[in-house]
Amino acid sequence: MKRVLNVETPNYINGKVKVSGWVNVVRAHGKILFIDLRDRTGILQVVFLPLAFTIDASAGKQETEIYNKVKEVRPEWVVEIIGEVVKRPPQMVNAKIPTGQIELVAKELKVLSEAKTLPFDVGTDGYETNEEIRMKYRYLDIRRERMHRNFKIRHEVFQFMRDFLSKEGFIEIETPNLTKSTPEGARDFVVPSRLQPGTFYALPQSPQQYKQLLQVGGFERYFQIARCFRDEDPRADRQAEFTQLDIEMGFVDREDVMEINEKLMIAIVKNLFPEKQIQQIPFPKITYQESMEKYKTDKPDIRSDKSNDNLLAFCWIIDFPFFEKSETGGWIFTHNPFSAPKTEFMDSLMKQKNISEILATQYDIVLNGCEIGGGSIRNHKPEALETVFEIMGYKKNRIKNNFGHMLEAFSYGAPPHGGIAYGFDRFLSVILKEPNIREVIAFPKTGDSRDLMMDAPSGIDPKQLKELQLQLSPVKSSRKPAKKISKRKK
Ligand code: ASP
Repeated sequence: MKRVLNVETPNYINGKVKVSGWVNVVRAHGKILFIDLRDRTGILQVVFLPLAFTIDASAGKQETEIYNKVKEVRPEWVVEIIGEVVKRPPQMVNAKIPTGQIELVAKELKVLSEAKTLPFDVGTDGYETNEEIRMKYRYLDIRRERMHRNFKIRHEVFQFMRDFLSKEGFIEIETPNLTKSTPEGARDFVVPSRLQPGTFYALPQSPQQYKQLLQVGGFERYFQIARCFRDEDPRADRQAEFTQLDIEMGFVDREDVMEINEKLMIAIVKNLFPEKQIQQIPFPKITYQESMEKYKTDKPDIRSDKSNDNLLAFCWIIDFPFFEKSETGGWIFTHNPFSAPKTEFMDSLMKQKNISEILATQYDIVLNGCEIGGGSIRNHKPEALETVFEIMGYKKNRIKNNFGHMLEAFSYGAPPHGGIAYGFDRFLSVILKEPNIREVIAFPKTGDSRDLMMDAPSGIDPKQLKELQLQLSPVKSSRKPAKKISKRKK
């Protein structure tokens, strides 16, 4: 017999079906026992009748056995049940669930897998549970209905973005994860090479260089749902590895990129979150200076009613300073070294004068006070890009070693281009009103970048170190010993 999903059972009234899933709850109502069976589509109420109540007298013996068997069953066991779908009496109808009109009268029960008592209750939304315990048992934590909803929506938003961008002529191209440093203002994660001993790959902080090189390659409309890696100091709402929707376009100016992205954001909200209202369309454009003066931040929360959970206030922040003073007194880019200055500042850039006044073509997109994305028009002329690195005090050799490939690529006919990247996890957590990006990432790391479930990072085999020709100096690890997590008995 083929398995039927819980949500499909109402199509089989008075018919026999086989369902399977997890035991959400076992309940007794007088002598009658109920299981709420959970599968990926939701809950189904299953009834187990003692002999005296059987509707099918000839099957009496069998039902006695099944009734005794179900008494053993515990929450979170995995079971398969064959039974008859019947309409519920009117007073028992549950309008809140899709299977609320029916129930399954069990005839056969098979235990597919037993479960130990779980370390926490997965029937709640989980906010009340200690986060370290949630992370250690993440595979259980994600059984929650809320987590299923979050990942389903995450998938739907991805699908929508892919579809929208494809229709606009973009193509999805993957770029490497084993690569060379791409600065985005954080530290790189490095991976030692076995085949080229003594050398290292860097994991990309973003696909920035590749997406620009794709422009040189003639892919005028690129996107990618890209994993990015940034080794940052512990910060509550950051993840060492996170997902971007990354976009790059050829032959565009700032307004073109902003326009298509605004269209994308509006379409996502209207199609997938119709209960939400966008405060203002077109999204307001606020200069960095104005934002700092008026809101004291470059991520202003411009909602007119902060108590309205369905209000989405998008805005663009533009005209950022290109450079700021670094801790050592030199100049450092504020966003991205590959950005172009606004046209009227190109002369200052090339002459390396009035550096603090140069404004970049950078645009950030802010939603309800959170920066959800940002991008810029790029320097597609090699001499302009080189000058940016010179302003930052890079010596000719360092420019050549680190970015020579970009400068060379731009000398073979680079189109004017620009793009944007969204912090996808952040965007989703704002839309879903989740307090933390970890709630929308299946297997996130802790604030200090540990994976408590897999116990990563961890030491490696001395044999691997040898193969990589690496030697560890006897520096004490700064890592705190993993906390012992004791299971909470229910
Ligand atoms: N690469 C930039 C970032 O990751 C985004 C962009 O300029 O397209 O923030």
